[in-house]
Order: sequence, then structure tokens, then C-alpha cells
Amino acid sequence: MRLVVLGRQGSGKGTQCVLLSRYYAVPHISTGDMLRSAVKAGTPIGLKVREIIGRGALIPDDIVTDMVFNRLMEGDVRNLGFILDGFPRTVAQAEALEQMLGESGLDRAVELDVPSELTIRRLTARRVCSDCGAIYSTHKPPKFNWTCDICGGEVVQRDDDREESIRKRLALYDTETLPVVQWYEKRSLLSRITGTGSQSAVLKRIQKALTGVVP
Ligand SMILES: [Zn+2]
Repeated sequence: MRLVVLGRQGSGKGTQCVLLSRYYAVPHISTGDMLRSAVKAGTPIGLKVREIIGRGALIPDDIVTDMVFNRLMEGDVRNLGFILDGFPRTVAQAEALEQMLGESGLDRAVELDVPSELTIRRLTARRVCSDCGAIYSTHKPPKFNWTCDICGGEVVQRDDDREESIRKRLALYDTETLPVVQWYEKRSLLSRITGTGSQSAVLKRIQKALTGVVP
């Protein structure tokens, strides 16, 4: 399975990618996770990214594209396929990906459609383990005092999950990534999925759309 999953921040995209990755046993490639772990590990890319974020600038296309393309060349991805999460974010990246994979290199692009106001409500409630990245929320906190159930790390609200940054990123999605959605639609590769409702309801909708793609 070679899949791109698109959706606004807070659309549940990350969660659905994890569920799909488990269900189909296909590697989940999340640019957000890769960038965060590069920063944490202090790799050359990580140091560069930290510096760029520190200046309040956007991470340039080529850094993310290189990182994703390197990952796409690894053995597990070549054998099993991939679920791309956070890439392509722009039409330029979608074109680069098409060039890299070849024309029949992608099975489907799924867009999770969720109204912005709902994603804002979801995101401002989100809390994340600062060590392992496990996701919680104000409705579903860890069992003990904002300490991660999985690793014991501190569970916090990320700066990106504050309302002002969320609104900025949603606007960016509309200007940069909605054209990517249309780009896949023109190539008849797009499945638009209603992203509201329970996680399992959304997962079922995606699986239904993938029938014919996945045996
Ligand atoms: Zn944790």
C-alpha cells in the first residue's frame, strides 16, 4: 500500500495513520515525528531545524523532501509500502513525490475532511508526552497527574497547540495544501473522507475507500 493522508491539523490524521499502519502492517512516515526526533537526537538536520524554528521561520521544502525521500528508500518501505503523513504539504512537494515514485507509484490520497472550528476545539484540548510523543487530551488525561501512562514523561500542551498558532497553520493549509488535494483529485487518486465521528467510524470509512487498493 502506498498512501498519502491529507487533512487539517486536528483532523485526526495522525491517529488514523497509526491505525492504518497497524491494520495493514505498512510503515507510517510522519514528517512531524521525524522532525521532532531529529531535533531531539541533535542530528545535523535536527540542529538546522531547531535553528530555523528558533528564528520563527518555516522549514524549507527541500529539508523535508530530502528527509522523506531518504526514508522512502529504506528497505521496509520498499517492501511494504508507506502511509505518508504531513507530506506532500505543497503542490511542489506533490510533484517531486510523483517524480520520485513514478506515475503509478501512489495508490491513493485520502483527505480527512473536518470543519476548522472542530479542529480548533480538538487541538486546544490536546496534550502530548514530551518524551515519547503519546497523545492525550484534557478529556482523556493520563492516569496520574499529567505523567505519561506509557513512559512516565511529562505530558504538556505544545506551543503549536495554542489557538493562535493553530489558526495560523489552518490558514496555511488552505493556501498551500488544499491545492494539493485538488491536484490529486485531478489525477483521480483522491478519496475525500468525512473525518467527524469516532475514530473507528472514520477508520471504517477509509478502509471502505481503500477497497480495491488493498487486498
Ligand atoms: Zn510518554
